[in-house]
Amino acid sequence: MELACLDLEGVLIPEIWIEFAEKTGIEALKATTRDIADYDELMTMRLGELDKHGLGINEIQEVIATLSPLPGAREFVDWLRERFQVIILSDTFYEFAGPLMKQLGYPTLLCHNLDVDAGGKVTGYNIRQANPKRQCIVAFKSIYYRTIAAGDSYNDTTMLAEADAGILFKAPQNVIEEFPQFPAVHEYEDLKKEFLKASIRDLTL
Ligand SMILES: [Mg+2]
Repeated sequence: MELACLDLEGVLIPEIWIEFAEKTGIEALKATTRDIADYDELMTMRLGELDKHGLGINEIQEVIATLSPLPGAREFVDWLRERFQVIILSDTFYEFAGPLMKQLGYPTLLCHNLDVDAGGKVTGYNIRQANPKRQCIVAFKSIYYRTIAAGDSYNDTTMLAEADAGILFKAPQNVIEEFPQFPAVHEYEDLKKEFLKASIRDLTL
């Protein structure tokens, strides 16, 4: 059997922190790892900003529920699930992704999680493991699943390399140029074709 492993942000949904910053108008939350390279420092700043603006998990989820998946994402996921077992491998947090996963029909999601106290305040975060996307592929291979993976950014490239087939989707030009070994497409229709090409099964349904 073959698994389709998809990155989430930038592939099926917009970048959550960026969209959240836009919706709430909290400028500091627009910072990414490009601005603050130390991830722990970045997350500590983010959690401090949420607290400062009185945003607990309920308020955060209300804002995120107003966001939408990328146009065509739901239809693509449905198409893929008819042909593969689909697993989303993401560096987001369950508590953030929840409202958007509902709109995608709740495909399986493996990602990180937040610590939330009884009053709903976000007090910390837990990274599931180091290099989580690649490690998932390693694990799937150990139970003899063939894997085809797609993602848009640097944090996906070790997953794409470890998979039996890797595809760049909506990746920026610098990533495409740095990783010419992966086919790069920008539309869901073309991504479907790449999955069919990478599959070793006859998927003409
Ligand atoms: Mg991404």
